[in-house]
Amino acid sequence: MGFCQMPDYPVVNLVKLHYGEEPIISGTKGSGTVFFEGCSLGCVFCQNYSISRGPTGHGSRMDKNTLADNFLKLQDQGAHNINLVTPMHFAPAVAEAISIAKAAGLNIPVAVNCSGYDLVSTLRLFDGLVDIYMPDMKYFSPKYSAEYSHAPDYFSVCSSAIDEMVRQTGDAVLGEDGLLKKGVIVRHLILPGLLFDSKHVIDYLTSRYGNRIYISLMSQYTPMPSATGKLKERPTRRACDSLADYLESKGQTNAFIQQYESDGKEMIPDFKT
Ligand code: SF4
Repeated sequence: MGFCQMPDYPVVNLVKLHYGEEPIISGTKGSGTVFFEGCSLGCVFCQNYSISRGPTGHGSRMDKNTLADNFLKLQDQGAHNINLVTPMHFAPAVAEAISIAKAAGLNIPVAVNCSGYDLVSTLRLFDGLVDIYMPDMKYFSPKYSAEYSHAPDYFSVCSSAIDEMVRQTGDAVLGEDGLLKKGVIVRHLILPGLLFDSKHVIDYLTSRYGNRIYISLMSQYTPMPSATGKLKERPTRRACDSLADYLESKGQTNAFIQQYESDGKEMIPDFKT
């Protein structure tokens, strides 16, 4: 086992139609979401900590054919897209599963939802298979990425990864139904006390890509039981409002700003634990 603490075959905790993504992903019928166990990053504040820290013992082992079957079942249930959440530590098998499903009739967009701490060489496995990327860009400063995710090189890895994602998908394109067909949505979870770091992330994304991508500012941060120090509190409403204004001041119209009132706990799916 490597850092992700997972075996060399995909382990899936939950497969469901999910309505908690951005409206251009969830639509009215839901996003066909597959939640994988484990993670290659390991943030101390992880909102999905109950499944990201290694095998829960309640997940299902899925080979590439079973995964492909699940993608097709979600399509049959009316999903607008297939949404793979934290799949990168299983990338080879997941890429093969997408190929198998496409050959068997999968024709809705496939989205990868990930931490952004991904190597370009890993992302190349998905070239031509994935239509939408939804990476995080969590930090600008190595100080915070080291402190909260044990990854001082997070920004340099993540910025190269997002360049590759934008290269693969091209500019964001909505269909006639108003849903995203291809493109990149970069998410930024606002953390307590990191206002200036968040501004640096916004500066970087707006100056490099502007409205070629969507930027989603998330204010749902919920302190987890293991939180210490500043992470025991939610970010302030003032900080969230100020970042929303800042993003707007940069001319970013392809943007989502989450309501401060959103209850983070309610947005965490009912994982099998
Ligand atoms: S990248 Fe996401 S899933 Fe992974 S540990 Fe960090 S918050 Fe959790």
